[in-house]
Amino acid sequence: MKISWNDFVEQCRSCQACPLAKTRKNVVIYRGSVMAPVMFIGEGPGANEDEQGLPFVGQAGRLLQLLLDAQGFEMKDFHIANVVKCRPPENRVPTDAEASACKKLLGTQILLAKPKIIVLLGKTAYTLFTGDKTAKMTEIRGHFVEKNGYLIMPTFHPAYILRNNNERVKLWQDIDQVRRKAVELGLMAPLQQDPDMPTDRPSSK
Ligand code: SF4
Repeated sequence: MKISWNDFVEQCRSCQACPLAKTRKNVVIYRGSVMAPVMFIGEGPGANEDEQGLPFVGQAGRLLQLLLDAQGFEMKDFHIANVVKCRPPENRVPTDAEASACKKLLGTQILLAKPKIIVLLGKTAYTLFTGDKTAKMTEIRGHFVEKNGYLIMPTFHPAYILRNNNERVKLWQDIDQVRRKAVELGLMAPLQQDPDMPTDRPSSK
């Protein structure tokens, strides 16, 4: 059954399918463009996201945005979401049951956003999304896998990069690859020159 974006948003806002509904302030659905060639998926909302009802708006989100801006991503180019739409208390990792309860909504969201490229941010998002618990992020990051018509790439979560700034270049290289693939597929305009990696640290507030 085809569902409109507005109906989907309503479905999310009224969802009580897992216990996270009881402790959330807001259901965190997306930011960016409703339809976009590249979709970024993290594990779940944190405190800032729960407060504002938007994903990736805290310090880690600002780091991600810094890198996306430098790589020439405009709002129309990305759709950012999470595996679960409600904040797990104390920022704990979402359980398999919570991810599974939220899976149908994420599936609908992907169908509506129509990305060609899906970037999984962090090992938890990768595991919850694919069910693969054994893969090592250091081995799988930066590699595209084609599944069900989507090009899927895992990479580091920007929160990990905040704690390990010497690894920033790897997240940068992966986003660079994503941009190059989007250009190759005719989904984004090419940049006039290769971008430099921003080195500043986003503010914590
Ligand atoms: S996390 Fe997902 S499944 Fe659980 S209540 Fe929120 S929207 Fe529903």
